[in-house]
Amino acid sequence: MAKIGDYIPIVGEGVVNDLKLLSGKLKGKVIQNINSTSVGGGVAEILSHMMPLMKDMDIDARWDLIKGGEQFFGVTKKFHNALHGMPESVTEKDFEIFTETSKKNIEEVNIYGDVVFIHDPQPIALIDKKAGNKWIWRCHIDVSAPDQKVWEFLRGFIDRYDSAVFSAPAFSQKLPIRQFLIAPSIDPLSDKNRDLPQEVIDAVMAKYGIPNDKPIITQISRFDRLKDPVGVIKAYKQVKTYNDCRLVLAGGGASDDPEGLQVLNEVREAASGDPDIHILLLAQNDTEINALQRASTVILQKSIKEGFGLTVTEALWKAKPVVASNVGGIPSQIAHKYSGLLCHSIDGASFAIKQLLNSPDYAKKLGENGREHVRNNFLITRHIRDYMLVFLSLYHKEDIVYL
Ligand code: UDP
Repeated sequence: MAKIGDYIPIVGEGVVNDLKLLSGKLKGKVIQNINSTSVGGGVAEILSHMMPLMKDMDIDARWDLIKGGEQFFGVTKKFHNALHGMPESVTEKDFEIFTETSKKNIEEVNIYGDVVFIHDPQPIALIDKKAGNKWIWRCHIDVSAPDQKVWEFLRGFIDRYDSAVFSAPAFSQKLPIRQFLIAPSIDPLSDKNRDLPQEVIDAVMAKYGIPNDKPIITQISRFDRLKDPVGVIKAYKQVKTYNDCRLVLAGGGASDDPEGLQVLNEVREAASGDPDIHILLLAQNDTEINALQRASTVILQKSIKEGFGLTVTEALWKAKPVVASNVGGIPSQIAHKYSGLLCHSIDGASFAIKQLLNSPDYAKKLGENGREHVRNNFLITRHIRDYMLVFLSLYHKEDIVYL
């Protein structure tokens, strides 16, 4: 595991010194993070790298999980889709299932943090255990146009928190509590993002039987309709009539996402008969994801809705040209025609991919710009700094905090 000093060559000494200074001010405070899965998806990805780094700075940060069964995660997945503004029929029975499992978690989860940091809606009801300590609700979802029924239900919990954190300005909502805007981040020294020797990249490609004979277009995501994997295949097919290429669609599941298998079957059907489409069901293996991203000519993220899109950040950090939908947190990462190409449709995605395949110098420049944008804005060091400032702000009365 990386130590905080290891980040100096990447972000500079000043940034690391600031972090050390701030961490000293949190001495004696226990920060308790709670979410619903330890693997799969962006929240688990961030926490698994942030916890050890905070510990290295002597911050007492810990991470706990709530428990839930298939029914509960079926309901929270519906909430997730509905909060993203997708049509979902959330019923009274669904709210009952959510409340039942929440009650069990309220009984069973041990709350010991001075600051309790709750991630996303699944554990939101734990706020019932608030007793003199500070509570933050961290929303990783694009709630710019949420389904009102689900949002109002959650408001009953959110309003009782001390503060809420959203990933982008467009996601903030009218709330009676303080709000902070904090973008997520990646860890440049993790197995998923560190530099890799070419032999490791080649070995991963060989393992998955992907020859290096044509340009490779890749989307790495959970098999989720909001990631539009079938749309990815359609875009690839349009490209393929002009530029010979391969498509890699790679992803594993998350234990709090029950729809994965169904979507995977839809994807397999859409891809059937084309040997240049590689559908990879990945076990959680960060080095393999890293290698797949590095071996790709173009990275695609054709999401219909997106909280932030860490896969975009990961690709940009590897100086890859990225084509991604103009949704959620993606436009904060990609300035169109500067640090990647934004698209709004299948046609737009295929047009952008063709442009990059046909103009390698332009593609290279976009990738390089993307890497610098990530260095300046979306690395874990900036993220930890922002969180520490939020924790500290909880102990101050001022209404406005500038980060
Ligand atoms: N990811 C992974 N294995 C997979 C698919 C995705 O480790 O099979 C990682 C991916 O590299 C990224 C995160 O999970 O770090 C996904 O975050 P993102 O914000 O892109 O989407 P989310 O899944 O949170 O909607």
